[in-house]
Amino acid sequence: MSIGANWAGTHFFGASAMVEARTITEVQETVSTTRGPIRALGTRHSFNDLADTAGTLITVTRIDPNPVLDTATQTVNVGAGIRYGELAVWLQERGWALHNMGSLPHISVGGAVATGTHGSGVTNGCLSDAVAGLEYVNASGALVKATRGDPGFEGLVVGLGAYGIVVRITLDIQPTFLVRQDVYRDLPWATFLDDVPAVMSAGYSVSAFTMWAEENLQQIWRKTRIGADETPTEPWLGARMERANEAGLVGVPPDNLTTKDGIEGPWLERLPHFRLDSTPSNGDEIQTEYFVDLADAEAALSAVRRLSDEIAPHLLITELRTIAADGLWLSGAYGRATLAIHFTWRNDEEAVSRLTPRIENALAPFGARPHWGKVHTMDADAVAAVTPRLADARDEFERLDPEGRFANAHLRKLGVRR
Ligand SMILES: Cc1cc2nc3c(=O)[nH]c(=O)nc-3n(C[C@H](O)[C@H](O)[C@H](O)COP(=O)(O)OP(=O)(O)OC[C@H]3O[C@@H](n4cnc5c(N)ncnc54)[C@H](O)[C@@H]3O)c2cc1C
Repeated sequence: MSIGANWAGTHFFGASAMVEARTITEVQETVSTTRGPIRALGTRHSFNDLADTAGTLITVTRIDPNPVLDTATQTVNVGAGIRYGELAVWLQERGWALHNMGSLPHISVGGAVATGTHGSGVTNGCLSDAVAGLEYVNASGALVKATRGDPGFEGLVVGLGAYGIVVRITLDIQPTFLVRQDVYRDLPWATFLDDVPAVMSAGYSVSAFTMWAEENLQQIWRKTRIGADETPTEPWLGARMERANEAGLVGVPPDNLTTKDGIEGPWLERLPHFRLDSTPSNGDEIQTEYFVDLADAEAALSAVRRLSDEIAPHLLITELRTIAADGLWLSGAYGRATLAIHFTWRNDEEAVSRLTPRIENALAPFGARPHWGKVHTMDADAVAAVTPRLADARDEFERLDPEGRFANAHLRKLGVRR
């Protein structure tokens, strides 16, 4: 049986079976009646073999998400297979919002949460940070609830599918809000390096785009929250504001992107970069991403810039974002305000595997952590050195799944499972 590839076509799944569950009961039956290893698969947006197994893959994306709003606790409880974009529309129709979105609204909530997926914003935690509760099917097929405040909960949220199949998630929400998105071009690199945190704080969610080799950053996208942030003006730090809605990204037509012409709109139509009703990104790409302390931004970016001549020919674009510190054991932003340094590469595996260790070496002095869902070459020792709670998370996974049903080669290679 061919299960096909991930979204980018960079990994073909080797599982021997694939179950598209329609109910939570079916997930439970599958776990209790199948023999051997089993792994959850979301919407296949990870760039590596993290989700894969030699045994059975199971996806919860076909289960009715049936969102349940709790206005008293300001939370929504929803099926883990729902895509962020669909949940966002459902919440907006009822006057509610998520605190942030990733660049792509097509990704499943369960899969995004499991890898610490993030948007940008110095005060915005990663998407997983909004998780107030989880319901998962454990190794013996039982349905288990875990709630924020329970011992070990911080180890389960960014859980990499390592201890069970998450079927429902409770997320913090807030009243809906408006955002405007403004594009600035040609902010000088020197100005940026002078005070990276200040530039990245110039709005609710700020992204900087660069090819590294140029004197000026290509674009800054300032997503400002109406009524809370200062209204963007021109001039700003020597960068010019682009008034027309024409700023695309390499290979991505502006029509596929959310509105960036300074016009106010609901959070869900401004915080993601890509529109839910468009073709997401360009598909023919490989992504890598590393997380460093925001306090080290200037030194870390300068270290990567020294490789700019090698990087630029193979790069589609780099995006720089920020993430607020959190307490989730396997989050890239665990314990530190974070700068996320992302690379969207041309789909040239040889070039990416040559450059990735060079970038990892350049960022090693800053304790750079990898994005679990993207390509990297860090091994168990390197991962352990930058993941302070790795051993705690592993102990929790081993306790919950002593037979290793939810382990796979990728997790063992990283030292996340034994
Ligand atoms: C075009 C594009 C844009 C992206 N943008 C961003 C971005 O803005 N920010 C960012 O941080 N990342 C981004 N990513 C990376 C992406 O968010 C992560 O790889 C995410 O994990 C993908 O979610 P998924 O549903 O596709 O999960 P999959 O790739 O299918 O699985 C990822 C992991 O989640 C686990 N998992 C999935 N579902 C469940 C479940 N129900 N229960 C338990 N475990 C589960 C799997 O076992 C696996 O370990 C992007 C990726 C692409 C392709």
